Amino acid sequence: IKGQDDVQYAFYDDDFRQRMLQEKLLEDQMKLALQHEEFIVYYQPKYGVTTENLVGAEALVRWRKADGSTVMPGKFIPLAEKNGFISYLDKYIFAEVCKKQKEWLEAGKQVVPISVNLSRRHLYNDSFIEEYAQMVEEAKVPAKYMQLELTESAIFENQEALCQIIDRLHSMGFSILMDDFGTGYSSLMMLKSIPIDVLKLDKSFVDDFDDPKGQKIITSVIELAQALHMEVTAEGVETKEQYEFLRKLGCNTIQGFYFAKPMPEEEFERLLIEGIG
Ligand code: C2E
Ligand code: CA
Ligand code: CA
Ligand code: CA
Repeated sequence: IKGQDDVQYAFYDDDFRQRMLQEKLLEDQMKLALQHEEFIVYYQPKYGVTTENLVGAEALVRWRKADGSTVMPGKFIPLAEKNGFISYLDKYIFAEVCKKQKEWLEAGKQVVPISVNLSRRHLYNDSFIEEYAQMVEEAKVPAKYMQLELTESAIFENQEALCQIIDRLHSMGFSILMDDFGTGYSSLMMLKSIPIDVLKLDKSFVDDFDDPKGQKIITSVIELAQALHMEVTAEGVETKEQYEFLRKLGCNTIQGFYFAKPMPEEEFERLLIEGIG
């Protein structure tokens, strides 16, 4: 036993190796979790600023383990992006949302467009567009009810290739949302060349609304987006003051805890029934 302890000690002393082992374990668990359908979709409603109606939602993944505990995406998305598992996960979430939309449409419910996150890892992958096209086709869901959220970092890599990809996605009927706008490296000039439909103003801007400089920045970004015919969705709106400020500026939609947190499917379904005026 003494000998074993020594071996273990040498083993665990090695931080790097331990991290690798933990990552490998998590990776294996994620693969099994996908097979066992432990990944579920939460929906966070988006509200129109003028009407305060439900106008859309974002699909956000949750890992519901067999023991009933829930793992938040921050705990596994970074690794999934690193090891490529994210391709399977994003496709799965997209397919799940397609399935739901189909069900709601067939049940005669009034549906709203739902945006799904897309890791930049897929974008430059040749089969990606066909796979997503096939999923909407199979589900028989009009593409206008499915939207794609890309982060700014996706745009940083290869603008020209990205424009072609977005053009194709547009021709298939998808809207493209730029996620976390303002957190990446891109310049405002990028907005001129990338055909984005909706700009999602990052929470960090919204949080800065009570600072005069922060206000000027938010104001300029919204004005610029409008001049370029993009809609603006503000993320992470938590207070009435933030909401009022954004409403006055002409921001189009609001997503944040002030209106609603991400919620399980059944709860969102109830909102669909009562919430669209
Ligand atoms: P995100 O795409 O920026 O999603 C918005 C995040 O902000 C969500 O966190 C949401 O719960 C949170 N949020 C929304 N409103 C508020 C608010 O008013 N206050 C605060 N404090 N937070 C708010 P969540 O669900 O933990 O997701 C974190 C991130 O994980 C997402 O950020 C996204 O980057 C990633 N993610 C989630 N689901 C997926 C997915 O299916 N695929 C991919 N590739 N990434 C995903
Ligand atoms: Ca997002
Ligand atoms: Ca975001
Ligand atoms: Ca974010």
